[in-house]
Amino acid sequence: MAKTLEDVKRVREIASELEQLGVPRKTTDKIRRWVKGEAKRMRDEGDEKLPFDTWKCHICGEERPDDKISVLSKPLVINGQPCGQQNIRYCNDRPACVEGAETFSFFK
Ligand SMILES: [Zn+2]
Repeated sequence: MAKTLEDVKRVREIASELEQLGVPRKTTDKIRRWVKGEAKRMRDEGDEKLPFDTWKCHICGEERPDDKISVLSKPLVINGQPCGQQNIRYCNDRPACVEGAETFSFFK
């Protein structure tokens, strides 16, 4: 059982990273279900009042519900050298954010 909301958030981030690495959503869904259960339990116990099932869109900066946020993985290239990948979260129901994600980079 997780100790803090931070732990739970980390697990959720890890689930996203696993998906980026090609782990099937079917598998990570189990983790996500656990995360939701833990988050709900903590909320019910009054540990945290913050909304949890939301993600911040990197394009428009708004907090959106989990099902409205998608992740675009792009190679991270610095000085022409591939250095890994960056995961860009965007609103999948907003054309401007979908388009923005294509050109967005954390390192410009
Ligand atoms: Zn957005």
